[in-house]
Amino acid sequence: MDQFLPAIPLKDTRVVVLGSGAAALNKLRLFRTAPCELVWCTLGKPVAAPADLNPNTRIITDANPCRMLRGARLVFIGVEERKLARVLARKARKAGALVNVIDDSPLCDFYTPALIDRGAITVALSSGGTAPVLVRDLRSALESVIAPGIGLLAETARTLRHRVSKVFPDVDARRRFWEHTLRGPATRLADQGDADGARRAMIAALNTSAAGTGKGVVHLVGAGPGDPELLTVRAARLIRDADVIVHDRLVSPAVLDRARRDAIRIDVGKTAGHHPVPQGKISDLLIEHARLGRRVVRLKGGDSFIFGRGGEEIEAVRNQGIEVYVTPGISAALAAGASAQIPLTHRDAAQAVTFVTGQPRKNGPQLDYAALAASTHTLVIYMGVAVAAILSRRLVQAGREGATPVAIVENATCDGERRIFTTLNQLATAIAGQQITGPAVLVIGDVVNRAPEALSGLAHQMLEQAA
Ligand code: SAH
Repeated sequence: MDQFLPAIPLKDTRVVVLGSGAAALNKLRLFRTAPCELVWCTLGKPVAAPADLNPNTRIITDANPCRMLRGARLVFIGVEERKLARVLARKARKAGALVNVIDDSPLCDFYTPALIDRGAITVALSSGGTAPVLVRDLRSALESVIAPGIGLLAETARTLRHRVSKVFPDVDARRRFWEHTLRGPATRLADQGDADGARRAMIAALNTSAAGTGKGVVHLVGAGPGDPELLTVRAARLIRDADVIVHDRLVSPAVLDRARRDAIRIDVGKTAGHHPVPQGKISDLLIEHARLGRRVVRLKGGDSFIFGRGGEEIEAVRNQGIEVYVTPGISAALAAGASAQIPLTHRDAAQAVTFVTGQPRKNGPQLDYAALAASTHTLVIYMGVAVAAILSRRLVQAGREGATPVAIVENATCDGERRIFTTLNQLATAIAGQQITGPAVLVIGDVVNRAPEALSGLAHQMLEQAA
C-alpha cells in the first residue's frame, strides 16, 4: 500500500482555501455540501463569488490570510508563485492544519483523492498522482454501481441505530436485521430522495422483524441478451443484493457471476419443448422464498415482459400479497439489431417493427400473416428457427416479397455470435445448412439491407435465381 486514505470528519471544522484561480475554485466546489466552515482567502484579489458556493463560506479578501489559518483542519493553497506557496504552507502547518498545495505534490501533506460524494458515504480513490486517468475511469465505473440514495440510507439508518440496538441486543441478530433492511424497500425510497419514506420502511421492517414476520420481496429482472455490460445499472445492483436468484437457461454465467457468493441460485432453465421446472412451480418458488423474508430476484434472459412469461409470474406473486417490482432488460431483438447494425426502423424502409413469437400457444391466438406481410414493416421473430420454413412460406403467401432480406442473428452479443444473411425465399435452406444451436432471432425486412454485412445486390440476385 503506497498511500493511506484516512477519513477526516468535516462537521464543525474549518477548511481554508487560499487563492483566486480556477484551481482554488475547484477545491471550493469539492466542499459545496460539506458541513464545515469554509474560508476562502483570495489574497487581496477581488473575486466574483460563484453561485454554487457552500452557504457556510466566508470570503476574506485580505492580502494576509494568517488570522484565518488558526484552527483550520485542512488548508488548500492555490497560488502561482512557489515561494509564496511554501511560506503559506509553513504557516498553515504551524497553525496545526494539514496542507495541500495544489499541483505541487512535494509540498503536500496529503493529496486530494477522486471522490464519490453520497453525503454520509464517501468513496475516495487515489493513485498518488501516478495515473489520474485510471482513477477517473475507476470512479466512473463505481459511480454507476453505487446507489444514488446510499448516503441518505446510511443517514436514515443512523437515526435508528439506538432503537435497533434495543430491539436486537444480540450482535448477530442485529447484523441480520441491517443486512435485510438496508437491501429492502427503504433502498428504493432513498434512491428517490424520499427520506421520510425510507425511515418509515425501516421502522416497518423493525416492527415486523421484532415480531418475527420479516417480509420478502420479488424483483423480476431482465438480464439482457448475455453480455454483462448490457445489464442495466439497477439490474446489476439487484443481482448483487439478492438472497435468492431464480434464473433461466438463457441467463449467461457471466451475468450470474455478479451475484453474491452466498446467494441461493436456482436454475429453472427451459429448453425448447422441455420444461424441467413447470411454470406454476416457478411462481411457487418465488413465493416460498419471499415468504421466508428473502430478496428474490427472478432473472430472465432479455426482458421479462417480452416472451418471458413475466406477466404470469408477477400476477401469481402479487396475488399472494408479496411486493413485486420489475426491472427491464435489453431484449434479443434490440441486441441483435445493435450487433448487426440493423436499424429496426428507418424512415426510408420501415415505419413499424413487430416482435413475433415463432411458437404461439397451441390453443391461443395465432399469427396474423396478412398484417405481418406489409413491406414497410420489420419483423423480429423469436423462437423462429425451428419453424422458419413454415413462417417464410406463409409470409410469402400473404404477400411479402420472397426477395425480402433476412438476417439470422444467433447468440447476439455473446461469445459465438453469428450473423447469417439471406432472403425470405432462401431462409429454410440457409438454416438447414448452418446448424443453428444457440438462441437466435430472425430479422425480416428491408432494413436488413442497411447492415454493413448485408448481401450485395448481385448476391441477392444469385440467391433468387438459385431459388
Ligand atoms: N425474454 C427474452 C426472450 C425469451 S424467448 C428477450 O426479451 O430477449 C427465447 C428466444 O429469445 C430465443 O429462442 C431466441 O429467439 C431469443 N434470444 C434470446 N437471447 C438471444 C440472443 N442472445 N441472441 C439471439 N436471440 C436470442
